[in-house]
Order: sequence, then C-alpha cells, then structure tokens
Amino acid sequence: MKLDEAAKKKLVAEAYEAQKMAYVPYSDFCVGAALMAKNGKIYRGCNIENAAFSPTNCGERTAFFKAVSEGVTEFEAIAVVGNKKGEKGEFCSPCGVCRQVMAEFCDPDEFKVILGAGEETAVYSLRELLPLGFTKKDLDSE
Ligand SMILES: [Zn+2]
Repeated sequence: MKLDEAAKKKLVAEAYEAQKMAYVPYSDFCVGAALMAKNGKIYRGCNIENAAFSPTNCGERTAFFKAVSEGVTEFEAIAVVGNKKGEKGEFCSPCGVCRQVMAEFCDPDEFKVILGAGEETAVYSLRELLPLGFTKKDLDSE
C-alpha cells in the first residue's frame, strides 16, 4: 500500500481515535498510535499507565504488540499523536524504547513514522529517528 496523502490522513485520524482510549490517570498525557501493516490492516494503540510506573506501556508499542500477537510482523507506517488532555497537541515523537521496537520489525528506510498535530503532519523514516540503531543484524557473528 502506498503512503499517499489520503492514507497519511486516514492513519492520523485512526491515531486520534486510538488516543481516546488512553489510560493516563497520572500524567494526563494521551497518546494514540495507528500502525499500518503491509497487508493493509491498521492496529490502534494507546498509552496505558500504571500506579507502579514501570509497567506503563506507550501507544506505539501497544499497537505493535497487538499486531505481532496476531501474527502480523510486516509494517508500512505508524501515525502518532499526543497531547495533554484538553490541550492542542504539538508533534509527539516516539520514545527511544518504541523506536527500538520498530527497528526489530521494520526496514529503517522504508518504514515511515507520521507525526500528527491537528491538520499538520511530519513524516520521518525510522533511520532518521534511530540512526545507528542496534538490530538483529548486529547479533550475526560474521
Ligand atoms: Zn514509547
């Protein structure tokens, strides 16, 4: 599936839908993500906080883990939106841990990360967000 303007807008709209489910009683910072698989299916994710803090999971990883747990491991793009409840958002880029999860499954040059804030979008390749990332290739002995 080609990532044209319409597909980009649809994915950002899906991320805003996912954001509505954010469970954020501690930060009030709501993140929504929409992950488009190569088969065209879209997986939504939101951030899920926890009173013990470290079990907290980001929206991007929620989307990835939903897809992978259903046997889907090839992806085209992810849209991410994030803002404090009731505030207008600015671009919210994935944290380092989420970038590392993306690097496990996605081609660094082909996979696109779409940041959305209202009508504005910005698109980055995974390589731009995680240069010199550690991947399974680094585990090869040759
Ligand atoms: Zn994250």
